[in-house]
Amino acid sequence: MSHTAGNTKIGFIGLGIMGAPMVRNLLTAGYDVTAFDLDPGRVEAVFKDRAEDGGKGASSIAEAVRDADVVITMVPASPQVEKVILHEGGVLEHIRTGGLIIDMSSITPQTSVDVAKAAAAKGVEVLDAPVSGGEAGAVEGVLSIMAGGEQETFDAAAPILEALGKTIVLCGPHGSGQTVKAANQLIVAVNIQAVAEAVVFLEKSGVDLEAALDVLNGGLAGSTVLTRKKESILAGDFRPGFKIDLHHKDMGIVTDAARNVGAVVPAGALLAQLVTALRQQGDGGLDHSALVRGVKRLSGEKLED
Ligand code: NAD
Repeated sequence: MSHTAGNTKIGFIGLGIMGAPMVRNLLTAGYDVTAFDLDPGRVEAVFKDRAEDGGKGASSIAEAVRDADVVITMVPASPQVEKVILHEGGVLEHIRTGGLIIDMSSITPQTSVDVAKAAAAKGVEVLDAPVSGGEAGAVEGVLSIMAGGEQETFDAAAPILEALGKTIVLCGPHGSGQTVKAANQLIVAVNIQAVAEAVVFLEKSGVDLEAALDVLNGGLAGSTVLTRKKESILAGDFRPGFKIDLHHKDMGIVTDAARNVGAVVPAGALLAQLVTALRQQGDGGLDHSALVRGVKRLSGEKLED
């Protein structure tokens, strides 16, 4: 059965930078959403001014999941996904048999496989469906969604995923979406680092940085990173967005997963180190475009906190 707005109740867990706008897009698409976050302020913020849309906040996982046909999770990392879905009081304890869990967090492929196994034992279907596109992509409902799981489950979930994203692809069995997301994070980190190095090089050379980035973005050096991050980099505004702490987690996932299959990712390993350095310098809560700050420090600039 296709999970359309008319026949599907959604429980949503994790209302952070990504989850909150995703819930708003589901409400706009007509879904009945009951949402929970550890932070009650985030629950309240999502439903403020949206009373007429029919969704509501929950004060526990049990309350968010009890009546749901589909449960979506959007939490930081594997430990939170395990806690929310597998542990006592979690989604698997409360979701109905035949229900569907779509985990959209970026986690290790192995955790997705473990979750799928545990769910199958209870007659519950699962998709791993991590996303790319950042906060702006979530707000605009144009995320890239890379899924892992069964074709039939993916097809049934399509109306929900289409309310959240634009490029939506089933990449293979459980965990495959996470493997593709790990590759995504490798590409994004290396790309941001290249932009960061160019920015510092251009600034120190005394050229007009804005003009330079404009012309670079029109040629082969152009990228979504440059398009999305140019203004905030020019303004020195590194509010997240996508936190360095989360990119640190993702560089751990990709370097580990690559080593497990015998793929050598030297640029990825270097970026994992550079991201770790940023965290150690106190920039973990900043956007990943703060890699510019790392290059500035390496280039001898004294930065304010
Ligand atoms: P965030 O830190 O802003 O939000 C995470 C939310 O999960 C928080 O509101 C937190 O309170 C909640 N949470 C944590 N543990 C919980 C629990 N046990 N029960 C209920 N709620 C819990 O993170 P985010 O930026 O929204 O990222 C979420 C996921 O999406 C991460 O896996 C991240 O890697 C991925 N992602 C983020 C972006 C981005 O640009 N921010 C882009 C693509 C993918």
